[in-house]
Amino acid sequence: MSSCGICGQIGAEESWGEANPWMLTKSTPAPANFERLVWTGLHEGWFSGRHVYRCGECEAYFFLAITSSSGQAGNSDYDDYTLTRRDPPAVADLDSENRRRETAQLLTVQCCQRGDLVLLEQLLDDERARLDVLKTLAALVTPQFPPSVLLERPAAADTRTAKSIGTKSIGIDLTPLEPRLRGFVSGPPDLAQAAARALARHLLHQARHDELQSLLASDGPVHAGALRALEDARVRDGGLPGEADAVRALMRHYVRTRAWKPAIELVEDHLTFRAAAQAIREIAQGVLDVDGPVDLSPLAPALVDKASRASQAPAWAGKDNYEAAAAALEALRPPGSVTGDLIPKPKWAETSAQASAADRKFLASLGAERPEPACKKPGCSRGTVSLSVLCRLHHFEMIRGYAWPHGDEAKLA
Ligand SMILES: [Zn+2]
Ligand SMILES: [Zn+2]
Repeated sequence: MSSCGICGQIGAEESWGEANPWMLTKSTPAPANFERLVWTGLHEGWFSGRHVYRCGECEAYFFLAITSSSGQAGNSDYDDYTLTRRDPPAVADLDSENRRRETAQLLTVQCCQRGDLVLLEQLLDDERARLDVLKTLAALVTPQFPPSVLLERPAAADTRTAKSIGTKSIGIDLTPLEPRLRGFVSGPPDLAQAAARALARHLLHQARHDELQSLLASDGPVHAGALRALEDARVRDGGLPGEADAVRALMRHYVRTRAWKPAIELVEDHLTFRAAAQAIREIAQGVLDVDGPVDLSPLAPALVDKASRASQAPAWAGKDNYEAAAAALEALRPPGSVTGDLIPKPKWAETSAQASAADRKFLASLGAERPEPACKKPGCSRGTVSLSVLCRLHHFEMIRGYAWPHGDEAKLA
């Protein structure tokens, strides 16, 4: 044990977790001061996998492994946690082959925390560490929310409620490293891919879409790295900005690899929907090349659903979405099929006053928010409405397909 005021009482390995009647385990509380460790934003996997924390006082690092097991009915999860201490990383540890990757990751985190560009450049010069340093940098560009962790402290009022321990991690600005990253982009394939991923996340974060587009327009590993960055943004950062070229590139990639689930998610997400529908239409018409003909019918139900929701929205909110969905469906329709008949006819006749009344009525029907559990939408600090994991405004947005358009909803009776 160390003498550190924050992490001194945390042992080399600590385990805790929820009581799980199926596994015959009792609940065990988290070690003292666990919640004072700082979330670094680095993790492998999300629901299971390792999350990296550090002690702000003595710079010790901790790996948190979260294991979920399901109850017999498969409908409730019981989480177990194992926290393993790792002493501050040292450059000399790079000599040890089995600690090398971990050391490169932790040194990168440490350099970013300290703003130590000199050591970071040195690590990028080191062939043994370079690839892991690039991968770690890519993960640190965008601020990340910490995982939900149960403390299981008897004193806590809400022992059953998962808590996000700590605050959002700090995003790292890679601007000073841009020349280095661009140098690696023209290097060997694995380095090129990792550097392109880091650079693309950085460009996306800075909304430099033209430069991002030129990475996406490259071949082989650079293209692959840029796609990974778009995928990271979509899955980890709570959504891809609706930037048309990025959505188009990702949709093309999903269709080429027959990855229907994420392709459908691009259709369902209202931020990316219109660009996704446009890309589907271009693929169906052969304008956007996906290496030969593909049966796009797995995407049709999501488009029909979108058209149907849009057809019930007021014209100003629904018309563009409706037309995008209908145009994509029209392009998908094989001659003689009836897909077109599945698209509901819009009711644009509604006046804006009626539409606004409908919005208000719907919001009012959601009732008041409970303070706990918190809204699942990353970055939202509101509570939730009954039977939903979202707050009033995010629930409204999910169901209606557009954000609450009437200003301050708090004024609603
Ligand atoms: Zn410490
Ligand atoms: Zn919310």
